[in-house]
Amino acid sequence: MLETICEVLEDAYKRNWITSRDGNVSIRHHDRDHFYITPSGVRKQTLQPDQFKKISIDKSIHSGYGNAAFNYNWQDLPYTDISKNLKPSGEIPLHFGLQKEMGQHKDDVRVIVHVHPTYCIAAMHAGIDLNTISNAFPELNRYTRVAPNVGDVAPISQELADECHKNLQLDKEGNIAYDIVGIKGHGVVAIDTSPWRAYEHIERLEHICKIVLASGKY
Ligand SMILES: [Zn+2]
Repeated sequence: MLETICEVLEDAYKRNWITSRDGNVSIRHHDRDHFYITPSGVRKQTLQPDQFKKISIDKSIHSGYGNAAFNYNWQDLPYTDISKNLKPSGEIPLHFGLQKEMGQHKDDVRVIVHVHPTYCIAAMHAGIDLNTISNAFPELNRYTRVAPNVGDVAPISQELADECHKNLQLDKEGNIAYDIVGIKGHGVVAIDTSPWRAYEHIERLEHICKIVLASGKY
């Protein structure tokens, strides 16, 4: 599926949803204690599977009384000669928080796609809450659950990760209540069981944002 992620990012580039070095994607298979994430600072329109970073998910018991609580840490694992000299995406706190426990995807695959789609960002800039507009469009909300917007947070920050997790209603088991969340002045994060499925949430939301902005009524 790493090849598919490369195709998705190439498509996002062609749609102007990212410039060359933007965007990041991670993927985890439920039976593995590691995941793959796109490297930082690499041109996404020419991304290759052997450039991905392999990241461990190290889980240890933090307190055993009553409800066990866990500590989670990650480390860079050896993968390919090319990826050795690359760093994982700066948005790794966002991805790690969502990949450490897989929730409703625990018997499957979890893919997280972060890009900067034009009309989603324009809508948030115009003061539109993406969760609110999704209620008016059945072709969107039948298939895609849109979270309330995350406000102004710095890119590549723990705060961005925390706010996205909070608005997606991420719980300790890794369950989430939404498929996509928008970050004001920045972009969106979508989650599903394959790269194209996650991408479709973005595509649907982008289409509706374009329609809403064209209507001038919001
Ligand atoms: Zn971004």
